[in-house]
Amino acid sequence: MNTLLPTTVVGSLPKPSWLAQPETLWSPWKLEGDALLEGKQDALRIALHEQSRRGIDIVSDGEQTRQHFVTTFIEHLSGVDFEQRKTVRIRDRYDASVPTVVGPVRRERPVFVEDAKFLRATTDQPIKWTLPGPMTMVDTLYDDHYKSREKLAWEFAAILNQEAKELEAAGVDIIQFDEPAFNVFLDEVKDWGVAALERAAEGLRAETAVHICYGYGIKANNDWKATLGSQWRQYEETFPLLQSSSIDIISLESQNSHVPMDLIELLRGKKVMLGAIDVASETIETPEEVADTLRKALQFVDADKLIPSSNCGMAPFPRDVALAKLSALSAGTNIVREELARRVS
Ligand code: ZN
Repeated sequence: MNTLLPTTVVGSLPKPSWLAQPETLWSPWKLEGDALLEGKQDALRIALHEQSRRGIDIVSDGEQTRQHFVTTFIEHLSGVDFEQRKTVRIRDRYDASVPTVVGPVRRERPVFVEDAKFLRATTDQPIKWTLPGPMTMVDTLYDDHYKSREKLAWEFAAILNQEAKELEAAGVDIIQFDEPAFNVFLDEVKDWGVAALERAAEGLRAETAVHICYGYGIKANNDWKATLGSQWRQYEETFPLLQSSSIDIISLESQNSHVPMDLIELLRGKKVMLGAIDVASETIETPEEVADTLRKALQFVDADKLIPSSNCGMAPFPRDVALAKLSALSAGTNIVREELARRVS
């Protein structure tokens, strides 16, 4: 990638209303069978077109082919019973009805590989694909078999590694693992979380990323954020571990958050995917606001290692808001690119 400050989107984009109910997490599909497959591919084409047209450099499927960033992956595994649902507290924050692990977990067939091939065939731009991280998967289930979060995480890590290797073979440039749970279970991150993540990324030649955030802009997350005080310092515990890990890119939340910017110094040497777009507010950032966030970050990360992005996925937004935010991200990044170019010339 030759572009300085290549922009990207963390994960999801809103789906078209003919495909799924807008502004809703876990929204059911409106189509079935072949029509659903065709609908997902059309939605992916649109997501790709909008990213490209609005100046996003590293593009993704906008998660148009999945219902949810964690459960869709789990649905494809054996050993998990989706009929047997239990209500558990996830991310230590809100109750959700989740499936139950009833036996050994296994990936019987590839989950996203065909979708990734379709994306690869549809664009020449670098592509990024997101997978849930092992700890976040464990935290989105009820486990009635392994009875150990760590054991189950290692099983998931091995499964994710199989999938990641096939995504790499399909031409994916960056494989990103989403680990919002890393901001909640800090002791587990130390004990086994980072090790399980490295296992999921083991042996990959594609670049690897981990996304750690404070969650989608939904009420339960916003209420939780209100309890975290004036400085959010969770990253202070995890960044040193990630700095010495095998993961190439660390994705974090910044815009309108209370994360002290100097914490990214703890990642020195790694690439930093910095959230310069807020996903908790529908107010569209001005290009100058985006630029200001990037300038602050550049005090602590080298310019050739900064990847401007959104704080998190944008699935819960109205579509026009999410798309306008993509444009703001590129416009703000362009301001800083020009400043950097002037500095070296
Ligand atoms: Zn996120």
